Amino acid sequence: MSPSTPQLPANYRVILDVVNEFGAGRHATAQEVFMRARERQPRIGFTTVHRGLARLHELGHILKLDIPGEGSAMYEPATDDHAHFRCTACGAVEDVDYACDPATRALLEARHGLAIRQESITFSGLCRSCAATGTPSGAS
Ligand SMILES: [Zn+2]
Ligand SMILES: [Zn+2]
Repeated sequence: MSPSTPQLPANYRVILDVVNEFGAGRHATAQEVFMRARERQPRIGFTTVHRGLARLHELGHILKLDIPGEGSAMYEPATDDHAHFRCTACGAVEDVDYACDPATRALLEARHGLAIRQESITFSGLCRSCAATGTPSGAS
C-alpha cells in the first residue's frame, strides 16, 4: 500500500537534500551526513539520519556503497550505474565510469539462473596522486 510518490517526512527530506548537495562522486558517510543535516535541523538525531538513509536507499533516492576496506557505508545521489575505485594507500574512493553492459548481465542471468537486481563493483589499487608519488606499498 505504498503510494507511487511517497511523502517523505521532513527530516528525511533534509537528509536527501544533504546527500544531493554533497553531490555525485562525494561518497559521504552517515556521520558526515549527520553533521551537515544538524546544521539545518539542530534537533535531528543520528538514529534518524541512519534510518532515513536506509529508507531513502530503499526508495531509490540515493545509492548506498559498501566499499571493501571501509568501515562504514557511504552514500551518494542516485545517478547512473558506475563502479568505484578505492586507493589502498590513502583510502580515497572515486567513481569509475564502468557498468556491466546489459548483454553481459543477461548472459550471466541466463547462465546461472539469476535475476540480478543490483551490481556493485569496486576496484582497488593506487589513485593518481599516490601512483605519481610512488607510495611504497607496505615498505617504510
Ligand atoms: Zn591514494
Ligand atoms: Zn559513486
